[in-house]
Amino acid sequence: MKQPFIIDAHVHTGYPGIFFSPEVDSRCLLERMDQFQVQYAVNLCSMRALTGSQDRELEKRQKEFEESGGRIFYLGFFNPQNGERDLAFMKKAVSQTGFRGIKIHPSLNKISADDDSYEPVWKFARDNDLPMVAHTWSVSSYNPVQVLSTPEKFERFVKKYPGVRFVLGHSGGRGTGRHEAVRMAKQYKNVYMDFGGDIYSYRYFENMARDVPENKVLFGSDYPWIDPRSHLARVYLAGITSSYKRRILRDNALEVYRLENK
Ligand SMILES: [Zn+2]
Repeated sequence: MKQPFIIDAHVHTGYPGIFFSPEVDSRCLLERMDQFQVQYAVNLCSMRALTGSQDRELEKRQKEFEESGGRIFYLGFFNPQNGERDLAFMKKAVSQTGFRGIKIHPSLNKISADDDSYEPVWKFARDNDLPMVAHTWSVSSYNPVQVLSTPEKFERFVKKYPGVRFVLGHSGGRGTGRHEAVRMAKQYKNVYMDFGGDIYSYRYFENMARDVPENKVLFGSDYPWIDPRSHLARVYLAGITSSYKRRILRDNALEVYRLENK
């Protein structure tokens, strides 16, 4: 295939603060997309939106989407501490052409994923037929807030809103988190996983292909703090079928984010 065909379903723009990243803007991202045959990327929020105000954020992302020639899609961010205020920003953005869903991050916002304060955003996703992506990880002794985002904490909403396509970002991280993510992707029709982040265990994709149906796993790099080539190389070299690879690198993201197949 000569045309760019990959979809990177987990990128960010903006200064990350806690991670070293010399490239932070959409212009750099676009250069990398051209370099690595990536047709579309899904921006799971700028760092500013994750950690501060969403004011004018979605207008800026739409501008980036247009400047990229319709290649950098984006999500809105819901912080349950802001509640209705964040939903109001997204209500305005629903008709914007690059807006494709909602991101939540219970660890960063310090409110457990099973808390009632997330109910309005699940309803909003259902009513507007939008996918949701959550930061998910495993219990971590050196990063204790991760306990707020373990995959099974989302399960009550996954069951209650079976029509919402729900992506476990980072596939639950390591150990028990990953185990739970695999269980949920198998058990629930509406649960997907992306493998953005720094999980580099040996035979990761071979195990994934053995355990998880082929329509459930999405390629995500977590650019700009992870080099997309590391994950791309692992997919290319994995001992899995080419149809599973194609599903990971493109088809599953097209379905989850309803992107045009062109
Ligand atoms: Zn991320």
